Amino acid sequence: IAPRLIAKKKGRGSGSGILHLNFNENSLGMSEKAKQAIINSIGIGSRYPDEHRSELIRQLAEKYNLEDNFVSLGNGSSENIRGIIQSQVFKARQAKQTVQLVVPDPTFNYAELYAQAMNVPVTKVPLTKDFRFDLAKLQETAEQFSGVSIFYLCNPNNPTSTVTPAKELFRWIKKAPENYFFLLDEAYAEYVQDPAFESGVKLIKQGFKNVAVTRTFSKFYAMAGYRVGYMLANSDVVEEVDKFMSIDNINIAGAVAALASLKDKTFSQLSLQSNEASRKIVQNALRELGLKFAPSNGNFIFHEIKGDVQTYQERMKENGILVGREFLPIQSWSRLTLGMPEEMQRFVKVLKEFRQNGWV
Ligand code: PLP
Repeated sequence: IAPRLIAKKKGRGSGSGILHLNFNENSLGMSEKAKQAIINSIGIGSRYPDEHRSELIRQLAEKYNLEDNFVSLGNGSSENIRGIIQSQVFKARQAKQTVQLVVPDPTFNYAELYAQAMNVPVTKVPLTKDFRFDLAKLQETAEQFSGVSIFYLCNPNNPTSTVTPAKELFRWIKKAPENYFFLLDEAYAEYVQDPAFESGVKLIKQGFKNVAVTRTFSKFYAMAGYRVGYMLANSDVVEEVDKFMSIDNINIAGAVAALASLKDKTFSQLSLQSNEASRKIVQNALRELGLKFAPSNGNFIFHEIKGDVQTYQERMKENGILVGREFLPIQSWSRLTLGMPEEMQRFVKVLKEFRQNGWV
């Protein structure tokens, strides 16, 4: 988290000339309608956000065809992740059971950080050679543990951008024993192209209570700074998790912007098109340079650099481009956020210069 704070201090405003391709933010910026909704809401900033929270819950429930009590808002999906971990750990400990978090490695690490804060052991299962989740090994890890296993499964995965096919994942979740709980983080679901992906919401509709899905307005809707995320789960799960969420979370500005974004279909199209155009620019360059990349299903791409990641990161920074950090245990691969197409053209130009220098 610390590097992000440093980057912010160094000025991330437009015109700073630095390309922020390191945190999977959306360079497109928010929907114009969302911006206007925030401006329009300034006058009611002195009021609590109950009404706007309820409306957002209603709209999300409608979007997914669920009851309102299957939705819980979060101060970014990070808060939802924290609430799910805390409530599951609390439940296990109340039942005098031991509990572990099981995660693929590498993956997004917030579940891990929150588990560690509660002294919950974290078991890491390396990705397969082609960057897939090793579902058999994940299960084996739980079988060897007598207590409760919480699985954090990010789909598509960060940093690899790869998808776990619904067929395999759902088959496993459906027949899982009672001491397994699945947190499916779908922060990048709106970008997915791979038809093998299906949202875990399907399982929730089918009545499964061993699964919670988290989603966010930070990525596709470019609202990272306004902190709006949500969880979808069976109402019994929502009730347990809500005890650990901050009361009145989601401020009015975030809520009205989220509501406007959901309605703005033109923005959604633009967000998708822009990401796809950027993905193509980068993929074409990587192919040209003979650098491997994992299938990209998010607003980022994981690609080979044939060298030390930290050195590469520093060299990119010297050229005004911030790229993702190293994701051990994978070496020599970089996570690159897909910014605007013109930003990616600038990136490609620098990458090609690196090739001329023999750096990639
Ligand atoms: N989940 C994944 C996979 C992420 O990559 C991120 C942020 O980068 C988050 C969750 C947290 O996002 P937010 O709290 O902004 O919703």
